[in-house]
Amino acid sequence: MIRITGGKVYDPANGVDGAIKDICIAGGRIVDDNPAQASDQIIDASGMLVLPGGVDVHTHVAGGALNFARGLVPENQRAARKFLHGPGRRAGLGGMTPTTFATGYLYAGMGWTTVNEAAVPILSARHTHEELHDIPIVDKTALVLMANNELVLDLLEAGEEERARHVVAWMIWAAKAYGVKAVNPGGVAAWKWGKNASALFEPVEGYQRVTPANIVGSLAAMVDELKLPHPLHLHCNNLGVPGNVATTLETMNVLDGRRAHLAHLQFHAYGGDDWSTMRSESARLAEAFNRQTNFTADAGAVLFGDAVTITADGPWQHLLYQLTGHKWGNLDVENETGCGIVPYVYKDRNLVNAVQWAVGLELLLLIDDPWRVFLTTDHPNGAGFWRYPEIIRLLMDAEFRREELKRLPAKARERILLPDLNREYSLSEIVIITAAGPARSLGLIAKGHLGAGADADVTIYPEKPDDGFLFQYPRYVIKGGEIVVEEGEVRHVTSGREFIVHPACDEQIENYLRPLFQKVYTISFDNYPVEIERLRHPHVQPCA
Ligand SMILES: [Zn+2]
Repeated sequence: MIRITGGKVYDPANGVDGAIKDICIAGGRIVDDNPAQASDQIIDASGMLVLPGGVDVHTHVAGGALNFARGLVPENQRAARKFLHGPGRRAGLGGMTPTTFATGYLYAGMGWTTVNEAAVPILSARHTHEELHDIPIVDKTALVLMANNELVLDLLEAGEEERARHVVAWMIWAAKAYGVKAVNPGGVAAWKWGKNASALFEPVEGYQRVTPANIVGSLAAMVDELKLPHPLHLHCNNLGVPGNVATTLETMNVLDGRRAHLAHLQFHAYGGDDWSTMRSESARLAEAFNRQTNFTADAGAVLFGDAVTITADGPWQHLLYQLTGHKWGNLDVENETGCGIVPYVYKDRNLVNAVQWAVGLELLLLIDDPWRVFLTTDHPNGAGFWRYPEIIRLLMDAEFRREELKRLPAKARERILLPDLNREYSLSEIVIITAAGPARSLGLIAKGHLGAGADADVTIYPEKPDDGFLFQYPRYVIKGGEIVVEEGEVRHVTSGREFIVHPACDEQIENYLRPLFQKVYTISFDNYPVEIERLRHPHVQPCA
């Protein structure tokens, strides 16, 4: 048994708010404190914070799109921090799109122990799982892209909702995914014809009945009917565009009380008619969000500096390329989705970027329930995940925020609310938005808390770090009961697990899919599903 003693424990899921108490670990799990039981190891956490390991609800760390991005920015890779071979450690590269081993070291080295890869096409799921397996230490989940899958859209067009649900269930298992992601519903399918889908109630290119609203409503209903642990994970239409708050609010209404997770909300909270009048609409969005308790969201905050935008939202990426003249890569994934890559730099003197920076923080400060809004940068779209400690400080320290606001152009300050917001996050609230809340939203019941039975994923940080940034260098990180990080350095490398779901579906659906596949796919039906044997450490989470 490992006993962590003397630390201040923050475990909001169990109502523990800074109490000094022991945390005991045995068999990879948190166990009740039994003073009669001898400890094999005692960790003295005096002067330190003891927290559940971080859970990233929305990130991009593995798969074809990431590899494409790595290849598109070789200059970035050359300049990247090198992770050298060490005891038990593999070499790797940092940069905006770190290689697999480096990704695990960086997450664990910051105190995060679970990550959700937010966008996987079924066709590249096999590759994605190989990369996920390669990412050491952290546990993973992955979401399969579904809102532009032509087989599903064709069934919705024909009014065959029930068969569509069986197809979706079959595809989730074929991809060995954990949940369903919708990106720019209908827009990516339309992009195959050079079009987009910006109006929620207008038919998608090539369809008579299918609209973005109809796709969102149907998928949210299917996810509920299939009893998936995580709700529909939704990247709304019109990402990044001035005035898009109207679409976001309309989408929330379309969901009509159904649960959904609204991804990277910052990119969907803009007012104005064009780029010259773009402004924050975080107050309007937060007000509606606060009322509708069926939703969770993640911030998708941006920080000034380098980023690489990677998304299935092909039409948006083309627009971003036209706006910036930067490099642009576009991929088409037959019948299923698309993908675009544009390297990007957020600049504090740029009016649009300044508004974006403020909006992410504003949403985190204006949404009143920390259990429903989570810390992300939509890595690497808004900033690298390793910069979370900067956002944590911006949320906890209004004075630091005011100093940072001085970097913005005067004009930007008229278009944002941030200078008027004085809320400061408590440490307990930070633990909620970085661990307890995302774990709950993902339905990972053994994550995000330190109660008996929880996975022993524990991070121990100095209470008063030298540089003033909490969560930067953990003193210890324990993953599944093993000490993996000491003094911010990876000391022991373990393999994480992959959480997947196996929703119920009518086996006969294969009779429907097989001939269709032979007709429209370049890959044969038998080679399409990812075999369960491909996953080295799968854990099937029940649907209930
Ligand atoms: Zn994303």
